[in-house]
Amino acid sequence: MSEDGKWVRAALKRALTVLESKEDELGRLDAAAGDGDHGAGMVRGLTAAVEAAVADEPGEALMQAGTAFADAAGGASGAIYGVLLVALGKRLAASGRVDPPQFVQGLRDAIEAIQQLGKAQPGDKTLLDALVPFVEALEEGVRGGQDLRSAWRQALPVAEEAARATAGLVARKGRSSRLGARGLGHPDPGAVSLTYILRAVEPALPA
Ligand code: ADP
Ligand code: MG
Ligand code: MG
Repeated sequence: MSEDGKWVRAALKRALTVLESKEDELGRLDAAAGDGDHGAGMVRGLTAAVEAAVADEPGEALMQAGTAFADAAGGASGAIYGVLLVALGKRLAASGRVDPPQFVQGLRDAIEAIQQLGKAQPGDKTLLDALVPFVEALEEGVRGGQDLRSAWRQALPVAEEAARATAGLVARKGRSSRLGARGLGHPDPGAVSLTYILRAVEPALPA
């Protein structure tokens, strides 16, 4: 697997392009239950992350991206993507290599860091409701011997189905929890944007 950090920047660029095209849709989804700024915040965060992720070493580039994302995006998702990218980066930097099991472990670290920060559990209608089943499916593929991109592609529909299913959940964390059961019927914007990002970055990942 390539040690070249350029894939990090390429992946972030791909995510930015897709989220720019989804900015209004994500804003509308967030307006249904929250404050309507989710699309704009993600585009601001990713724009800053692309600019900041200049290190050659992938772990270092991910940490640069996370810090810049959090500063530029603000809000709940800014803080959450900040810790996600930094946790993944730390794991890859510490292991000195980017292989599929280390990548899975980095995403597990990220889930733990997100939960420590935001105190949300699966079922609370947040992006964790898509991220946790995605990482479980990814891990299963990697354990079965698949390369990272194959396992990732196989896990994408799991995340997408889980994001759709958040429409049936009542938010218990974040801004939208104020709406209670009135938020039923709309998927969580953070879960939806996560699936766009996961699909967008796949071709840029180290194979
Ligand atoms: P804000 O709510 O500050 O305006 P955004 O609109 O950018 O932030 O992001 C909202 C998304 O953040 C939600 O859809 C949800 O997925 C995610 N989120 C909010 N609170 C939490 C939390 N405590 N843990 C995990 N994700 C959260
Ligand atoms: Mg919002
Ligand atoms: Mg906001």
